[in-house]
Amino acid sequence: MLDVLIIGAGPVGLACALETQRKGLKVAIAEKGALVNSLVGYPTNMEFFSTPELLEIGGYPFPTAHYKPLREDALDYYQRVARDEKLDIRLHEKVLKLDGEQGNFTVSTSKGEIPTRNVILATGFYDLPNLLGVPGEDLSHVSHYYKEPYQHVLQHVVVIGAKNSSAKAALQLTRAGAKVTLIVRGPEVSNSVKYWIRPDLINRIAEGRITAHFNSTVTAIHPEAIEILTPDGPLTIPTDFVYALTGYHPDEALLGRFRVEPDPTDEACAPLFNPQTHETSRRGVFVAGTVCGGRATSRWFIENGRHHAQLIAAYLAGQVLGSAGQ
Ligand SMILES: Cc1cc2nc3c(=O)[nH]c(=O)nc-3n(C[C@H](O)[C@H](O)[C@H](O)COP(=O)(O)OP(=O)(O)OC[C@H]3O[C@@H](n4cnc5c(N)ncnc54)[C@H](O)[C@@H]3O)c2cc1C
Repeated sequence: MLDVLIIGAGPVGLACALETQRKGLKVAIAEKGALVNSLVGYPTNMEFFSTPELLEIGGYPFPTAHYKPLREDALDYYQRVARDEKLDIRLHEKVLKLDGEQGNFTVSTSKGEIPTRNVILATGFYDLPNLLGVPGEDLSHVSHYYKEPYQHVLQHVVVIGAKNSSAKAALQLTRAGAKVTLIVRGPEVSNSVKYWIRPDLINRIAEGRITAHFNSTVTAIHPEAIEILTPDGPLTIPTDFVYALTGYHPDEALLGRFRVEPDPTDEACAPLFNPQTHETSRRGVFVAGTVCGGRATSRWFIENGRHHAQLIAAYLAGQVLGSAGQ
């Protein structure tokens, strides 16, 4: 029987695994996809906003040739940490449900059952896009994930959203030779866009290289056009491809199946948990990383979420081995 099963091999799940293992606990990770699966899905050569030392886990230095690491640097870094720590990681094994009580849980996965005393949910947020809920959103030329610009060169691309991901995608697509139209629900490019990206986007809009429609919403997507409602009335825009980059949210159904209650005072439906231990309303079930913020997915990220691992490890060591804080 494991002392703790961690669900999700993202940066924070890995941090939880190595910190609990270093305390002497018997630990494994179940991950439904590849190692650091969310990062695998990020855009090719994406530059992190954080400098490398803020993405480090377990005290492993993260040397990079760049001031800000690229996605590829981070993929390499986290797999080296996982291998050096000899973590027991069960990849492509999706966790489905949890039965039993603290000390005697059974976790059901796509491959079987795993007995464990405790569980840490480090399931992130990147699997479930916030849908527009309009007709045509399920067409094959609509994606909620942006990878790279090259398949869109000399084509008309609509990008929906005005936060960091959509801003970066619109700029990269434009520079690669696509004709980009940006659809923004609010009156301007979001103030949350990083200070070195926002003026770049605003200037490209001002010089006419990117067409932007503010205070506008999408009403329908067709195979060769998109319909939007602007302050001046409805508009149909011809398009070859649509990127709906309107954010993501955690798997609330999984949290529900785990009987983790939402915090009734939190508008983002974040799970209720003790901030000292990260234990949820269900004893023996812990949350770590981005999932702790519910729908407020920018509340916890790698920089601050990685520290959840030490809190949980210290508490669990006390619970399981009677050595709290050691
Ligand atoms: C484009 C982009 C750029 C970013 N840049 C930065 C940055 O510069 N600095 C920063 O600190 N943060 C950044 N972030 C945020 C950061 O990447 C996330 O906050 C971080 O990945 C959270 O780590 P996590 O381990 O909590 O979750 P994740 O990395 O999302 O990992 C969760 C894991 O759980 C797995 N999983 C989910 N459900 C199940 C299941 N049922 N069974 C098994 N496994 C499951 C997933 O496959 C995934 O591998 C960025 C995010 C994006 C999208």
